[in-house]
Amino acid sequence: MFEVLTKGFRSARARLSGKQVITETAIDEALRDIRVSLLEADVALHVVNAFLAQVKEKAIGEVVQVKAKKDGRKVEITPAEHFVKLCNDELVALMGAGERGIEFEPGGRPTAVMMVGLHGTGKTTTIGKMAHFYKNRGKKLLLAAGDTYRAAGMDQLAIWGERVGVPVVVGKPGQDPASVMFDAGKQALEQGVDLLIADTAGRLHTNVNLVDELKKVHRVLGKAVPGGPHEVLLLLDSTMGQNAVRQADVFRQAVDVTGIALAKLDGTAKGGVVLSIARDMGLPIRFVGVGEGIDDIRPFDAKEFTRALFQVD
Ligand code: GDP
Repeated sequence: MFEVLTKGFRSARARLSGKQVITETAIDEALRDIRVSLLEADVALHVVNAFLAQVKEKAIGEVVQVKAKKDGRKVEITPAEHFVKLCNDELVALMGAGERGIEFEPGGRPTAVMMVGLHGTGKTTTIGKMAHFYKNRGKKLLLAAGDTYRAAGMDQLAIWGERVGVPVVVGKPGQDPASVMFDAGKQALEQGVDLLIADTAGRLHTNVNLVDELKKVHRVLGKAVPGGPHEVLLLLDSTMGQNAVRQADVFRQAVDVTGIALAKLDGTAKGGVVLSIARDMGLPIRFVGVGEGIDDIRPFDAKEFTRALFQVD
């Protein structure tokens, strides 16, 4: 799914491989290949420029100086490998290394996760897949169907709950979502639940209402579950490219978003959106959705992602 991105890194590596000494001109040519493929992959221009400037600065300082021999001994890493490693490390840094999945509260206390995002981005599906993922890892879960404006949405989450064998607190159509959240929070505490995942409305009549609504749900979750919500995940649809970033604004105005879940990464060859989102929002990507099936979710790991990118042979 990252062919476009991989292409540039592959040709840059080919350009440099076998060379004992790398010149600044060779670095510039390699970076040109990478630039084209990053832009084709829908990475925002300012992100591309910042990334290339970083790599260039370091490459001139490090890679250009790397020679095949040093202190009379053979250097283990060739200039081309050194360059690839440099790109890899810079990409990992760009995406906020090491973060993966949900961080659980210590001492078995419930961890509450509030999911926000536009209707249609894949929120319900992602919640179902996350529930399955953590249930398989021995966690006790509870889901809350807080989108009481859409009966179909609540039904859909209830179906996912049945499918993965996780209880779902479902409100009545039109019920105040905050009261559903309060019930769910109480149940989570009483039943010793490890992870409560709360679905929220993705679209109301106007954005102002949506903002107020989400603020309220956030507040109520805080009252019902100590320290909650511990994580607010913004669900973004990868196939929307840069629009996904713009559409995130309303949610970020409403609540303190702490991380991203990126759905439908399988549906785009332009995986570059991952880079732009991570960089633009300064938020860690927690999960990626890679299909419609129950197991099609991965905790996002920047190192794994770049390994996939650089696995060029
Ligand atoms: P919601 O309205 O945000 O709750 O969105 P849904 O969960 O109903 O998902 C909308 C559509 O996107 C459904 O057809 C899902 O099967 C599909 N979908 C969700 N996540 C993924 C994913 O990671 N990959 C693919 N290919 N489809 C997905």
